[in-house]
Amino acid sequence: MKQKVLSEKQDANAKLGLMENFGNTPADRPYFANICDNPLTGAFDKKAVVHAGLGGRPVAKDDTAGLWYSLSQVRRKGKTVAYIHIPFCETRCLYCGFFANPARKEDLSVYARALIREMEADQDTPLVASGPVHAVYLGGGTPTALAAKDLKAVLDAVQRCLPLANDCEITVEGRVLDFTDEKMDACIQGGANRFSIGVQTFDDKIRSGLGRVAVREKILDRLTALKEKDQAAVIIDLIYGLPGQTMAHWKEDIRTFLDLDLDGVDLYQLIRFPGGALDKAAKGGRFSVLAGLSDRAAMFERGVDLMTRARYRRLSVSHWGRAFRERNLYNLAMKEKATCLAYGSGAGGNVNGHMVFQEGKLSAYLKLAGETKPVTRILAPPANESLIRRISGDLELGRMDLRRNGMELGLDLEGFYSPLLNQWENAGLVSMDKGWVTLTLAGQFWQTNLAQGMIDYFSETRAGQA
Ligand code: SF4
Repeated sequence: MKQKVLSEKQDANAKLGLMENFGNTPADRPYFANICDNPLTGAFDKKAVVHAGLGGRPVAKDDTAGLWYSLSQVRRKGKTVAYIHIPFCETRCLYCGFFANPARKEDLSVYARALIREMEADQDTPLVASGPVHAVYLGGGTPTALAAKDLKAVLDAVQRCLPLANDCEITVEGRVLDFTDEKMDACIQGGANRFSIGVQTFDDKIRSGLGRVAVREKILDRLTALKEKDQAAVIIDLIYGLPGQTMAHWKEDIRTFLDLDLDGVDLYQLIRFPGGALDKAAKGGRFSVLAGLSDRAAMFERGVDLMTRARYRRLSVSHWGRAFRERNLYNLAMKEKATCLAYGSGAGGNVNGHMVFQEGKLSAYLKLAGETKPVTRILAPPANESLIRRISGDLELGRMDLRRNGMELGLDLEGFYSPLLNQWENAGLVSMDKGWVTLTLAGQFWQTNLAQGMIDYFSETRAGQA
């Protein structure tokens, strides 16, 4: 029996290209952590600003339409979500890299009709019709910029064109600016059962510095109105590390959230896109207070502490929900790279391991929608897509069952990753127990570095052994 286990392990190692006696790992690779007194602030020199992505091989432009047709004829397997993109905003926020189009009333209605045409056109394909859709997300941009009648019409099309699971989570993302009672009611009548509102901070001075228009009183009023409808989970986003934000502001933001008694919260770290408006303003010395890495780490730690004391459930390293209503299905499915059906200009999806991108230019999208699926770019799955998907999804939850994942993939992942994980354990980022990798508080703060590190380690180590 022992011999059989050994030879199975050797087979698995051979699949990975591992030497029986793995060693000589260069200690200077960036995924190895610094060993220091405080891993929360010092484990890595800088924080990875993007989530561990899949990458992929670009498909030639001439082959894109044919490949999309083939993908649309295949029945889906596994969990599926749908993403519907509303690429309009009333104002442009300083820190944002996603602003696409100004929200002009005449464009919004035309766009809503195009979106509905697009959904109607492919509803009978095997890809769309073949199984339940577990979560739908209207994101942007600002979906709540749409008029009430357009929000209702788009949500009606979702109900009509997608085979929704009985317990499908339907989220509308939005801002409180212009989110009237009429729009809230239109969303609820259209079947929305979750609202994700981008608050970022309740502090008026910090908000106005970011280009956010609504003031604290208005935010409290709109969130309370939404909550009192008692028809849907109400979730907000808060960001730490904003220009002008101190620890006192951050604690006050979380306290205000807790006083509102909402269903869930995302606590995000500010992402400063190199060369973006925020980056330029910061380099130009516009802000007297701009949190450094150790300040942001302290804010993360305080956020975890306050949410834990308030007895909210931890649904991922950055998301908390109350026991009732909040499930966070869409976000968790996306981290696992579930199938994602995409609709709208600039939307991105995931079909059979392929990343799919839709036409981002509004005028071009409006011409295509309903006539032909506006897919303009596809990335074919990278090697080891299943492993990457599991790393990305599991570490978002703060843990990974390496043994089970290895068995399911037919790989000796415990053996392969032991040099890296032992180093991370010594650095205070993870704890290891019977094949389980659990992130410490510091590991949670550095989660994107760890996920990217596991992916890079796999690619580079195997390439070195090829
Ligand atoms: S509303 Fe959202 S998408 Fe639009 S500019 Fe502000 S942060 Fe970006």
